[in-house]
Amino acid sequence: MSARQSAFILARRLMDAGFEAFFAGGCVRDALLGLTPKDYDIATSATPDQVLKLFPGSNEVGAHFGVVIVRHRGEPVEIATFRTDGSYKDSRRPESVEFSTPEQDAQRRDFTINGLFQHPETGEIIDYVGGLSDLKAGCLRAIGDPVARFSEDALRLLRAVRFSTTLGFEIEKQTDDAVCSCADFLGRISPERIRDEFSKILTSNRRGAGLETLVRTGLIRHIVPEILDTIGCDQPPEWHPEGDVFTHTRIMLDMLEPDAPLELCLAVLLHDIGKPPTRTFDEEANRIRFNGHDAVGAEMTGTILRRLRYPNETIAAVVPMVARHMQFMNVQKMRTAKLKLFMAAPRFVDEMELHRVDCGSSNGFTDNYEFLQAKAEEFAAAPLIPPPLVSGRDLINLGLPPGPCFKEILDAVQTEQLEGRILDREPALAYLKQLAAEIRV
Ligand code: ATP
Ligand code: MG
Repeated sequence: MSARQSAFILARRLMDAGFEAFFAGGCVRDALLGLTPKDYDIATSATPDQVLKLFPGSNEVGAHFGVVIVRHRGEPVEIATFRTDGSYKDSRRPESVEFSTPEQDAQRRDFTINGLFQHPETGEIIDYVGGLSDLKAGCLRAIGDPVARFSEDALRLLRAVRFSTTLGFEIEKQTDDAVCSCADFLGRISPERIRDEFSKILTSNRRGAGLETLVRTGLIRHIVPEILDTIGCDQPPEWHPEGDVFTHTRIMLDMLEPDAPLELCLAVLLHDIGKPPTRTFDEEANRIRFNGHDAVGAEMTGTILRRLRYPNETIAAVVPMVARHMQFMNVQKMRTAKLKLFMAAPRFVDEMELHRVDCGSSNGFTDNYEFLQAKAEEFAAAPLIPPPLVSGRDLINLGLPPGPCFKEILDAVQTEQLEGRILDREPALAYLKQLAAEIRV
């Protein structure tokens, strides 16, 4: 059963009990745009108590006054009583809510395209806010006075950019002016909530335009201000005919596949973040240099992602991608063992993609990429890193006391194995003995 059918059945039950019930907000917007809604919200005249009585076992959402989550065949549907939000003290949450009419409920919503209701049975659209014409025109407009609405709840600033990015909508002039003039209100929003909206912008297939909008409106100052230093950070034109670091990064974001994973999008966004602080001019060679920008950038990436409260797994995935992105320039010179270890990185497929767009957005070189593709095919028959032929136990059996030399010796044997020069345990053991003897002397 689809989420829509579940929502329909629940709305039907509310109507049968004598209440008004409409599909509301995002699910109406998405359905009208021909998109599949992520979740369904129902707005109703039933109070939360009445909803709970009608659907025993469901829960009122603590954080949102008057919202009850009802599960129907596993599909969660949010059922919210028509309401007017009271005053906002801290730009985040209303202090109180008052149950009211559908018309007032539409007025408390953020953007006109999010303020539509739909009759579940007839499909009729109930539009109190001019949302239909904005939806047709591709226009994102705040409901009511935009400055007042952004002052009430500063997360709406980022939602404006998110919807304009994901839907490809223009932000209406007055709304846009208000996003710019109210940008600093975003400082009142928790990093976690900023992160969630930011991730949606970055994983949208219009992520490059989304980044531009964050910069243009000034919102980026409260997300990744470090990006601002990449604007005007010029690079050697022979390597980067496209222009400064920001332009280079923006083009790369646009070159990614539409469904690129978040970790890859973050790595692309931040791969050259170490360039502004490492930029020097080499007088002798008469060129700009960014020595060590990969290591500095990896360090900065960790700081930025921790500040935005990304989970540790995300940070652990992104930081090495930034740290390693320059090593792609050396792959053709690597010995087989080193190359296999390099290619065995957990996010290597994403790193290949980062490298592809890194070159594609600048010098246009494809040789390292093609070399790695050919190598991946060549190595495909066997695991890149086969199980080791010898272990620390073998060294202990040889009477060697455990110590740092263990890793050195085992790595040396692994190198021979990866190079294809030692394939069996017998010769591996012989080589191990030889290395152990050398260490003893
Ligand atoms: P999506 O689910 O695709 O992220 P959505 O529009 O459904 O988009 P939700 O966060 O699920 O967004 O919220 C559902 C509806 O609640 C919105 O369509 C909007 O009408 C209203 N809403 C959500 N957040 C706010 C807010 N910060 N201010 C005012 N109205 C809001
Ligand atoms: Mg939704």
